[in-house]
Amino acid sequence: MTRLTIVVPCHNEEAVLPESSKRLDALLGTLQEQDRISDGSQVVFVDDGSSDSTWLLIEELAAANPRLRGIKLSRNYGHQSALLAGLMNVEGDVVISVDADLQDDLSVIADMITSNEEGADVVYGVRSARDTDTFFKRMSATLYYKLLNRMGVDVVFNHADYRLLSRRALEALKDYSEVNLFLRGIVPTLGFKSAIVSYVRNERFAGESKYPLHKMLGLEFDGVTSFSAFPLRLIAGLGVIVFLASMGLSIWVLWTRLFTDNAIPGWASSVLPMYLLGGIQLFSIGILGEYISKVYLETKRRPRYIIEKSV
Ligand code: UDP
Ligand code: MG
Repeated sequence: MTRLTIVVPCHNEEAVLPESSKRLDALLGTLQEQDRISDGSQVVFVDDGSSDSTWLLIEELAAANPRLRGIKLSRNYGHQSALLAGLMNVEGDVVISVDADLQDDLSVIADMITSNEEGADVVYGVRSARDTDTFFKRMSATLYYKLLNRMGVDVVFNHADYRLLSRRALEALKDYSEVNLFLRGIVPTLGFKSAIVSYVRNERFAGESKYPLHKMLGLEFDGVTSFSAFPLRLIAGLGVIVFLASMGLSIWVLWTRLFTDNAIPGWASSVLPMYLLGGIQLFSIGILGEYISKVYLETKRRPRYIIEKSV
């Protein structure tokens, strides 16, 4: 029988934890009664440097219930790293990751396990509707997935981090040592047989989103620059266009200078291109810097998380 572990990253989630843990525990109970999963199945909460009473709550839960466990990171490492810390440090034949706010419908976990039994090493939870998201979030998300696909990054549309990974897939994931974590991009590159289960995403039932706009943009930016050299190619393309345009311009300028009398020594014609080129160069250097900073961070091989203790 499958031993299931559910990994739940938590950052300041004291408002949702009591309810979430209850629902997750009940789910494990039901699945065990149905003989779908083994008795050793667990829920592991990863406390990602919370400043509220999240860890205290986790300790209490773990003390009262052998099915619930906790891992405490030494500080806030961000959602992706917290998730990885959980995935890499739990036992179980299959591991399912889910957010603490339970926006993702738990009832499809049974379907995920079925898909796994049918041979899928990776099962993606995919949102079938985004009704509960704001218009802005919906639009930006759609645009983002489209953009990533265009740039050759293989991401599953409308899939976040609600997924099942088999032990085999987890072992493969161990060999990915990048610091700029974008699991959504990494997991499809693992290969293996995969499946999709759809669900409707609910609203957060308590507490605030721990993913403010700047964190989300940061993750999206990582997604592009960690997986795609497209922006670098864009620079080259831009360079070619500017080069061709300036060739045409030079011919026209030379023509005016040599064969006509209307060559006026004006500053506009010299200053404007300067600004233009300056802008393009700065832009290009900025993008180069972005990649170099990635290389810089990767070469340090710093730990992606540090575990303080676990219960
Ligand atoms: N989270 C985390 N570390 C962070 C930010 C968020 O572990 O620095 C967790 C958070 O506790 C939640 C999950 O990541 O379990 C997703 O966050 P949230 O629900 O706030 O994001 P949203 O659903 O609004 O995109
Ligand atoms: Mg959420």
